[in-house]
Amino acid sequence: MEEWHKKIVSHIGQKQEKKERECIQKMHPKVKMGAKNNIGDKADNYFECFRHMDLRYFKREEFDSPDKEGSGCQMDKDFLCRLDDARHIAGVPFKINSGFRTPEYNIDLEKRGYKVAKTSPHMKGLAVDIATPDSRTRYKVLTALMEVGFKRFGFGETFIHVDCDEEKSQDCIWHYY
Ligand SMILES: [Zn+2]
Repeated sequence: MEEWHKKIVSHIGQKQEKKERECIQKMHPKVKMGAKNNIGDKADNYFECFRHMDLRYFKREEFDSPDKEGSGCQMDKDFLCRLDDARHIAGVPFKINSGFRTPEYNIDLEKRGYKVAKTSPHMKGLAVDIATPDSRTRYKVLTALMEVGFKRFGFGETFIHVDCDEEKSQDCIWHYY
């Protein structure tokens, strides 16, 4: 066992650590590289940074695809940092209705009649749906998201979808009605 790995094991229980490490190593080349080249501290720092992600308002579990525990760690880190900033500006809770989605879960949603894109940015970890139970919350959430620079929004009756997928059209708002 490498030194950085030992440190992590001592920080958090072995079982949880194993699951998270596998998931994070799979998705994050920097950690994989750190482990491979034995640059212990870098990998350790990156792992710890990702674990806490310096987010003030969210836990990674809030972004899990419902069919896969731990999959929330596949969310894009920069996206989450911006989301966290927007939450701070909005001053109201951001309830995440949907974060990361596995391809299987995306297909499942489609089968159940939801309007989902086959190339949904949720599958890339670049999107969330935030609950907006009333018009004032919708206003606060939207204006805060715009303030931190998001440019793509989908309006549902009770949620706002936001993503930063640069492979899609920018500066647009659509709806799911
Ligand atoms: Zn969405």
